[in-house]
Order: sequence, then C-alpha cells, then structure tokens
Amino acid sequence: MTNTLFDALTSTAAGEPDRRFALLPDGRHYTYGDVDKVSARFANVLTWLGLQPGDRVAVQVEKSIEALMLYLGTVRAGGVFLPLNTAYTPAEIAYFLGDAKPRVFVCDPKKRDQLAPVAREAGAAIETLGVWQSPETSAGSLSDKALAAKEQFETVARGPDDLAAILYTSGTTGRSKGAMLTHENLLSNAEVLKDSWRFTESDTLLHTLPIFHTHGLFVACNTVMISGSGMIFLPKFDVEEVFKYLPQATSMMGVPTFYTRLLADDRLSRETAGHMRLFTSGSAPLLAETHRAFEAKTGQRILERYGMTETNMNTSNPYEGERRAGTVGFPLPGVSLRIADPETGETLPDGEIGVIEVKGPNVFAGYWQMPEKTASEFRPDGFFITGDLGLVDADGYVSIVGRGKDLVITGGFNVYPKEVELAIDELDGVVESAVIGVPHPDFGEGVVGVVVANRPLEEAALTAALKDRLARFKQPKRIVFVDELPRNTMGKVQKNVLRERFASLLAEG
Ligand code: AMP
Repeated sequence: MTNTLFDALTSTAAGEPDRRFALLPDGRHYTYGDVDKVSARFANVLTWLGLQPGDRVAVQVEKSIEALMLYLGTVRAGGVFLPLNTAYTPAEIAYFLGDAKPRVFVCDPKKRDQLAPVAREAGAAIETLGVWQSPETSAGSLSDKALAAKEQFETVARGPDDLAAILYTSGTTGRSKGAMLTHENLLSNAEVLKDSWRFTESDTLLHTLPIFHTHGLFVACNTVMISGSGMIFLPKFDVEEVFKYLPQATSMMGVPTFYTRLLADDRLSRETAGHMRLFTSGSAPLLAETHRAFEAKTGQRILERYGMTETNMNTSNPYEGERRAGTVGFPLPGVSLRIADPETGETLPDGEIGVIEVKGPNVFAGYWQMPEKTASEFRPDGFFITGDLGLVDADGYVSIVGRGKDLVITGGFNVYPKEVELAIDELDGVVESAVIGVPHPDFGEGVVGVVVANRPLEEAALTAALKDRLARFKQPKRIVFVDELPRNTMGKVQKNVLRERFASLLAEG
C-alpha cells in the first residue's frame, strides 16, 4: 500500500534502522528504526481508537519526540494531524475541536481535567501525552497504550490529494481558519527544501522551534526525514542549550529573535558558529542589520526564506549565490510568484509594491469547511492571494514590506510601515520599532511609531530627526516608547495588540 507522505519521509533511511535520527536532551538517541516502530505503535493505537482515513487527530501537547511520532503515526494510519499551539486556552480549544470535529484529542496530562468536557462536547475521545521522564514513569494514557501496542503496522494507503494535516492560522484578524494541507503539499515542499538547502544524511539540524507550527514541524522535521539527516531535538530555544549543542550541529533553523538573542551573547563567534553549514531564518522579517551583525561575528550569512501556513515555503535566498539581507530571495522551484494590484488583481511590473500571489504544488487545498472564504482568497487562475505586500527587484529578489492588513492609509495615502520602521531604526538609541495606524479624526488613520530604545530618548527629538527622511504624510504623528514589542511564539510582532493598546492616542487629532 502506498502512503504518499509517510513512504517518502521514511524512504531515504529505509533498510538502515540504526541510522541516527534524533539526539534528545535526556540522553536518549532515536534511530530511524525507532521512528518506524514508534510511529507504528501510535498508528495501532489510533486505529484501535476508531480512527478512519480522513479523521482528524487534534493535539495540544508539549514538544517531545513522542509528539513528533504521533504526527507520523497519524499520517501512517491515514489520519489528518491537527497540532494546536500550547498557549491556547480551553475556550480556544473548544472552538478548534468544535470546528474540526476530530476523532481523537490528545492533550497534556496536566490539562486533562480541564479539557475532558471540551473534548466530550466535540465528540472526540480524549487521551494524554506528556514529556517522557523515565521508563518507569507514565507519560500519559496514549503513551501507555502505545507501549502496549505492536511495533508493526500496515500503513494505510493515501494519495497525493488526501489531507495529511490541518493547521489553524493564527487568526489575528478574525476567526482562525484551518488550512488543509495535502500529502502532495507537504511532500513537494520537503523535496524542494532538501535540494535547495543541500540537506544530506551527514547533516545534523539543531531543532529548537515549536512543533505545532509549520516552521518547526514541516520545514524542519520533514526536510530532515526526507534527506535521512539527524537532528538534536531540544524542547525550546534556550541560549545556554544552543551553545552546548552547536558543536555537534551542522545547521539551524530559526526565527529572527533567535538570532538577536544569540547576537547578544559574547560566546557567539567564528569559533562557536563558524563550522556550521547553514543558518536559516523565517516566520518574521529578519532585519538587514541583524543579518550583517551575524555575519560580522560568525562569518555566516543567514539564509532568509518566506512562507506561510497555507503555502509552506514560497521563496528562499540562494544556497550558492548572494544571500541578500532584507530580502526573502527567489521563488522556490515549482512555485510561481507574482505581484498584483490588491484591488484589480492585475499583475504589476517589477519594482512596484503589491500583494504577493503564489501558485504551485506547495499551496494548500483550501480552508476547512469555508468554501466561500477559500474562493475569495484565490484568483480565478488558481493563484493564492497571500495578503503579504511586497515587490520583486530588477534581479528577481522578492522583498516583503508587511501584511496588507498592517498597511496604514492616512488621508488617502498609503504608508508601508516597513519604510517608516527602517527610518526610525536608523536613529541613534533605537533598538527596534513597529509602525501602526490608529484612528485619527481627520485622516481616517494616523501613523504612530512604537519604539524600543536602549537609553532615554525624547519623542520630539525623534520626530524632528525624521522630518528630512520621510515625506510628511509618512511621518509618525506620535512616537511612544515601550520596554519591548509584543511578539507571538514565532517572533512575529503583534501589531493588532499595539493597535488596540494605542487606539485612542490620536483621538484628539
Ligand atoms: P504563519 O502562517 O504563521 O507561518 O505566518 C505567515 C506570515 O509570516 C507570512 O504571511 C508573512 O507575513 C510572515 N513571514 C514569514 N516569513 C517571513 C519573512 N522571511 N519575512 C517577513 N515576513 C515573513
């Protein structure tokens, strides 16, 4: 029987059960033989729990190798894996379970009592999976059942168009939507990333990202598996642990905040990081300044790429060739990308800012049970409207200037926050900034700069310094100072939080 994604992910290391897969911080080593056996155990348990092909398995658990095996076991049993952010509250979980109607819901043992009524309401069987501590300690009901299950499983047949996963978008602008990802979506992207980033069986990836998100789960783990590489699988990003394990790694995937935190540590140097083959960054914009500072300290040029839950990875800076700071590189093989007028959908010439649209085998099959929403986000010729604003320069490099929803329209003029942020960031004493639009009685919206500084700064001095650098309508009407910018777990600045917090700042005009 063939199962498009599972077969491909496990084919490179097939016949080599002793090949190393993951080194764990508790000292355990997982081989590819263990991947086969443990994913079979989970697949057996899920089948025993009544999972039918196409059924969803919703999972809100701490990061662990067993949670990763549950992903594989689900795909192997013909199911649809649905990971949920560990930060979601029971009320939020109730929405996801009510929407996705999973057959099984797996949660952390500590949250079982709270979440059992939520699962019951949605008609899902509840099981628990915690972090492994010792052979004598139970890691939850699902883990206990898996230990008692057989380590052989006849993989359920699934084709390229069948669903392998549903990932809910972060939903900062309304209801969170379930992006349906097919076997082909995930497999095609894993193959492309393996080739584009030159992953081979001699690689060891330092894995510190969460695995409820596309970056840590698919970009990292699928690419490792399809190339038969190994990884060091850590529970989270912790600077101490990173420096401990870096000597054994060849590559690392991170979000920009990982790199700024490493840069703040004196241990970062050519000696500690110079041996690495590849550092990649994505999920949020990497400041060109961070790129340059990282190169100055380590000799390494971070490779920035761009993707999203719905599309997997769309673009990447080149492995060989110039990795251009402040850009996200070129469309990946198989991905068509164009810049369109957000209103008319007309393709714009190179150099003009518009909405980024993409098409390719990486692009998802639509939003779960939202046919109208799905239809409204695709053009008639099949291009997906990402909602990101960007441009393609004369050399073909793509740059992102922000999300469409973050665009500020003041007095009828469009202000791209990124341009104002770059101008503010250049000022002395500024660490970073976020530019937002808030209601303004005359202009509809007014520009506000939210700044993190490394010494006391005067608002008037900053506003004055921006006068010559930006057209008048782009100049912030107010600049406010904060200790830090609110960020989600993937390092994205939460502009919606800032817009709410400063909503009445310009109420007087
Ligand atoms: P998510 O669906 O959580 O992966 O978020 C996807 C969004 O993250 C994209 O639509 C972009 O707005 C943003 N994003 C991802 N990678 C980058 C990048 N390299 N630079 C700027 N924004 C990015």
